Amino acid sequence: MTYTLDGAARPRAGDGPSEAVHWIGGAAHPGTGGRFGDVTDPATGAVTGRVPLASDADVEAAVAAAKAAFPAWRDTSLAKRTEILFRFRELLNARTDELAALITAEHGKVLSDAAGEVARGRDVVEFACGMPHLLKGYATENASTSVDVHSVRQPLGPVAIISPFNFPAMVPMWFFPIAIAAGNTVVLKPSEKVPSAALWMAALWREAGLPDGVFNVLHGDKAAVDGLLTHPDVKAVSFVGSTPIARYVYRTATAHDKRVQALGGAKNHMVVLPDADLDLAADQAVNAGFGSAGERCMAISALVAVGGCADALVEKIADRARGLRTGDGRRGCDMGPLVTRDARERVARYIEAGESEGAELVVDGRRADFDADPAEGTEGGFFVGPTLFDHVGTDMSIYTEEIFGPVLSVVRVDSYDEAVALINANPYGNGAAIFTNDGGAARRFQNEVEIGMVGVNVPIPVPMAYYSFGGWKSSLFGDTHAHGTEGVHFFTRGKVVTTRWPDHGHGGLDLGFPQGT
Ligand code: NAD
Repeated sequence: MTYTLDGAARPRAGDGPSEAVHWIGGAAHPGTGGRFGDVTDPATGAVTGRVPLASDADVEAAVAAAKAAFPAWRDTSLAKRTEILFRFRELLNARTDELAALITAEHGKVLSDAAGEVARGRDVVEFACGMPHLLKGYATENASTSVDVHSVRQPLGPVAIISPFNFPAMVPMWFFPIAIAAGNTVVLKPSEKVPSAALWMAALWREAGLPDGVFNVLHGDKAAVDGLLTHPDVKAVSFVGSTPIARYVYRTATAHDKRVQALGGAKNHMVVLPDADLDLAADQAVNAGFGSAGERCMAISALVAVGGCADALVEKIADRARGLRTGDGRRGCDMGPLVTRDARERVARYIEAGESEGAELVVDGRRADFDADPAEGTEGGFFVGPTLFDHVGTDMSIYTEEIFGPVLSVVRVDSYDEAVALINANPYGNGAAIFTNDGGAARRFQNEVEIGMVGVNVPIPVPMAYYSFGGWKSSLFGDTHAHGTEGVHFFTRGKVVTTRWPDHGHGGLDLGFPQGT
């Protein structure tokens, strides 16, 4: 089907071959680039649609639409803006399953996980519904005699959001509810691998009553991204993706005078101390290592076993990993396929490298029995089962690089200090967790570890919407994390107004710098 986004024509999973469109100024826009990308169903390997890759003219049209919509939207009352946000939230809630099915069809993650990402995105919508409170400034009466001061925060204008493939709904929702509620207009450039969720959300905004041009969707690759990063009318860029691209986005967009938050890749460690509950730790290592086939920026990919707990822990994790069912995410499996054939081959190459570099391959996901139904064509899916390496060295590529697949590496160390030193030496700083029953050790860990998001007996410590999400070091470029009050700060700029109303006491010349009197 061709997405028209009119009324009932929201993109729907299973509707047959899809032809995505840009969504610009409240209308479907086929694009003028003449270049297209394939969209695949990772569980079958079949090409299920294609996506237009934006030209310079398409970028221009999307930014122009956002710019044209800005003055009226910024002047729309907070009451009216949040009414639309509340309606969007209600619609999203009612139709979570529809969006989840679309995510699974293009990304591959299991349906329950897709519904979970929608729920975490909805949390940010709910947070943004509180924008009237969040935008309140300060006021000071009588700062100087008869002088009052107050501060306000105002929207920036058109902003660009550039998102990765692994959370087609949640990551855009880290940003756009707050940007829109604060009075900005948005151009969302989703990953070209998963274009439909963004279009579905555009249709939902329309139904919720958002004026045309406030939320635009521009599909594309590097050309579209470069167009947005350098466009003089784009005031801010929120990016999420791999570290090399995040660094490039940060440098390019700041060189073009924009404010930028660019979230990058990760290598998240889970430290297990000998006193930990090893069954709990094994369960959580499996959930956090293999959930969403390891394609989460907060996935645990390195498990650091301290002291004598490694043998028992590896055995427990291996038992659990062997019991997982990998297959089509629509068939009630534990784990779905990887997103593309390339991703599958890349992960398989890492497994080969781990073996040849001397790590012990305890569970080999290349040889898993996949719960794929040949009748449904899933034998062509991009599957790799859970993979567990033990005795991983810190110089091996499976440790030093972000694999972004279901591969868990166990590194053995002798002490807590060694574990922390290992994490702090890593170039990434997204998430880290410690498993222990020792409160003192946990307290030291949260203080000493150079990481943006820390879990204590929690393996994937993703902050709630009213806190802010972001890593340190090469996991985030810029100083502002996503959502929470930092998100509000990012999408607004401060203004301070100093006021004196004439009264009988004013007047007189004084060329000195004003001081409180
Ligand atoms: P990616 O970097 O390949 O792509 C991200 C976005 O950048 C996409 O929209 C893509 O079209 C665009 N892009 C790709 N190549 C580009 C180029 N050369 N120039 C300009 N733009 C380009 O990332 P991905 O594979 O879609 O997503 C996986 C990565 O994202 C992983 O590294 C993961 O850790 C990271 N990620 C990080 C977070 C976080 O919060 N830190 C969250 C989710 C994903």
